[in-house]
Amino acid sequence: MPELRQNFFTKEWVIIATERAKRPEELATHRSIQPSPAFVETCPFCPGNENKTPPEVMRHPAKGDLWQVRVIPNKCAALSSDVQPTRSLQHLRRRIDGFGFHEVIVDSPDHSRCMALLSDEQVAGILSVYRQRYNALSLDHRVNHITIFKNHGLDAGASLQHPHSQLIATPVIPSQVRHRLHEALRHYDDVGECMFCHMVEREVEDQTRVVIKSERFVAMEVFASPTPFATHIFPLRHMASFGDISEMEIADLARILRALLAKIYVGLGNPDLNFTVRSGPAEYTQARHFHWYVSVIPRLTRVAGFELGSGMFINTVLPEAAAEFLRKVAVDAVAAAGK
Ligand SMILES: [Zn+2]
Ligand SMILES: [Zn+2]
Repeated sequence: MPELRQNFFTKEWVIIATERAKRPEELATHRSIQPSPAFVETCPFCPGNENKTPPEVMRHPAKGDLWQVRVIPNKCAALSSDVQPTRSLQHLRRRIDGFGFHEVIVDSPDHSRCMALLSDEQVAGILSVYRQRYNALSLDHRVNHITIFKNHGLDAGASLQHPHSQLIATPVIPSQVRHRLHEALRHYDDVGECMFCHMVEREVEDQTRVVIKSERFVAMEVFASPTPFATHIFPLRHMASFGDISEMEIADLARILRALLAKIYVGLGNPDLNFTVRSGPAEYTQARHFHWYVSVIPRLTRVAGFELGSGMFINTVLPEAAAEFLRKVAVDAVAAAGK
C-alpha cells in the first residue's frame, strides 16, 4: 500500500510509493570509483597555489605553512560584503542591495579525499572552523541568517573537485527557514516542549529509523523523507544554535558525520550529495523551541514536474529500509584508509 506521510516539522506531505518501491541497493550509482591524484598543479585549492585564491580569511591551524583547513572568500561570490544592505520598496517590489558573505572552506590539503575518506580528527578540524566562522559572522548586525553547506559532485552543484564546503551569510531570513522557526515556536506554545527533543527521544526508543547513535548525537532517516536516504543528525542535548556546540560535541559529531558519509560512499557508490547545517540564528542561544541539526541529502533521484508543481515529493525507498541498509554497511576499512 502506498502511504502519505507528513513531516512533523515542515508539515510537508510526501508520498511513500511502496508500489514502486525500490530496494535501497538498486539506487546505488555503480560508478567505478576512480582514484584521483592528491595534488593537481592547476587546482587553486591545492597547497602551494594559495596565491591563486582571494586573500585568506583564516586557516587551521592558525600558524605555519602546513594548513589543514583554509577559509577564503568565494571568487564568484553570490553576495558582497562591500555593499550595505540598504532596503527599498517600490509598489510591491521589495529589494535589498546584495550584501552578504560567501566563503569557501577548503576541507583538506588533499585533492583526492572527500569528507568520507578523511580521519575523524580532520573532520573535527573542519567542524571547528565552521563554528568559528559561524560565530564570527553572527556578530555582524547586518547578517540575519547563515547557511553552511557542502556540494559533493556535479549533480549536487560542485564546480571544483577539490573537497570544500561553503558558507553564505544573508541580510534576510529565508522564508523556508522562517516557516520552520514559526512551526517550532507554535509547537512550543501549544505543548510547552521542544518538538525536536520529543521526536529524537521517540526515534531513539523506536530505533527503526536510527542509523547510528553515539553518546551525544543520533543520525536517523527522516520519517517523511522527501527523497531516498535523506538523513538528519541531531544533537541529543537541546541546543538551538550550532554556534553553541562544545569541543566534546564537535569530536563526537565528526565521528558520526564521517561514519554516515562513509556508509553512503561505500553502500551507494559515492553518490553526489549535499549537506547543510540547519541552525537557529546565533541570537537563539537560549531559545527553547528550536533545535539545530545537520541534513544530509544524497542526490539519487531527480526532481520532476509533480514535485515542482505541488511541492510534494514521491519517495520510492521506505525510510525504514534505508536505515536498515545503512546500518549494515561496514566502514571500518574506509576509516583505516582515511588515516
Ligand atoms: Zn586541489
Ligand atoms: Zn530540543
